[in-house]
Amino acid sequence: MKKLSERTAVWLKVTPQTPLLLTGKTAVSNFQQSQSHISGGTLRGAIGSKLLRQSRQAFEALFADEEPYFGNGYYGNGSPIWPFPLTAQSCKRYPGFVDESGEEKHGVIDLLADDFAYDMVSDPMLFADLLPMSRERLQSNIGDWFMIERLDIPKGLNPEKCPDKKAKPGRCAICCKPLAPINGTYFAAIPKPFNSDKVPVARKTQVAINRARAVAQHALLYTQERLDVVDQGAFYAQVSLPTDKVAVLAAAIEGTFYIGRGRSKGNGRIVIQIITPPEFPSIAGRLYDLNSRLKGAFQPYAKAQPDKVSAQMPGTFFSLTLRSPAILHHAGRPLRVPTSQMLNLSQATHIHPVRAWARLDNVSGWDSAARLPRRRELAVRAGSVYLFWADETVDPVQLQAELERLELNGIGAARERGFGQLTVCAPFHYADLAGENK
Ligand SMILES: [Zn+2]
Repeated sequence: MKKLSERTAVWLKVTPQTPLLLTGKTAVSNFQQSQSHISGGTLRGAIGSKLLRQSRQAFEALFADEEPYFGNGYYGNGSPIWPFPLTAQSCKRYPGFVDESGEEKHGVIDLLADDFAYDMVSDPMLFADLLPMSRERLQSNIGDWFMIERLDIPKGLNPEKCPDKKAKPGRCAICCKPLAPINGTYFAAIPKPFNSDKVPVARKTQVAINRARAVAQHALLYTQERLDVVDQGAFYAQVSLPTDKVAVLAAAIEGTFYIGRGRSKGNGRIVIQIITPPEFPSIAGRLYDLNSRLKGAFQPYAKAQPDKVSAQMPGTFFSLTLRSPAILHHAGRPLRVPTSQMLNLSQATHIHPVRAWARLDNVSGWDSAARLPRRRELAVRAGSVYLFWADETVDPVQLQAELERLELNGIGAARERGFGQLTVCAPFHYADLAGENK
């Protein structure tokens, strides 16, 4: 097998010069909706077709052998943004990070660690095979384990504000309303998590002209959505590519590009730049912080039932958070959770998936080379989160190096079109998000 080159992550800033109409969603009758992000496939198509017009050679310099993986471009107001993880929850009544806008928002929390800790202490047999060290202790004590109450009470929760005057998990720390997942929106992470702006969308209803009679035609009334993003924010996408192709990419993105539909009406002109990548803590630091957070989540149970629950765990936990949808297949069937083998880690048999927060969605797209729609398929939704456990036999230093590579390579199929990009041990899962409340 050919050894793969080392990859580098490069960030692209895509600045629209005219409005965009990006159709990924199916156009229903005469209402054309725009997708709110630029898919990796669209960027790849725009750059690839421009190079092909130059020469076969120019095209192959970037795309032959190991392809670049163009990630999805998400709209940010000055910095890269990420889809909210499915583990994120916010107040049902006043969702969002507390910020300077003056709008009432009650903050965001992440439940990865608390969900996992509660699952494990309330149904330890689920994990008995994964944590052999505790199996005997688990079996001798199993009787009353299922009665354990959830103990992850949010910091600062004021019982006086709750209907029954009792502080409970799953409630907003400020107003005691239930927490709900955050769907379909994005957050910026640099330097601290904050709410990203929504993509401005304009809708225009027009009447098409009957060419033969040169008058407006009744049945041809249609509405078009456009992303009205000129002179506002930009789209940010990560590209992972072999290190020796970075210069080739930099040359390839010079000039202007056209993406999406309605180009004859002036839509879709963009310029692309390479920007300095956002600074992220090292994988080693992230692993340490996530594992500390997980231990912390067991603490309330260990304190309540010291003879049964321990906050000490052997081995190393790591999480994978999808920044874009992932297409995972095994033996021709779609998977919701990747197998350890799919992660390309050398000690796969000692690495176990322990918990997933993941959903499957239909995806489709347009193959511009074939001028045909792509086959619809099932993909795991962006924001899905997986928690894996590497047992004590796994060398932590080697694991770190391999996780670094995994973050650059992504998982699953169609990675060249932006699928399967992920963050290892995303700081979102251990950062003090609720601290933003104060
Ligand atoms: Zn609230």
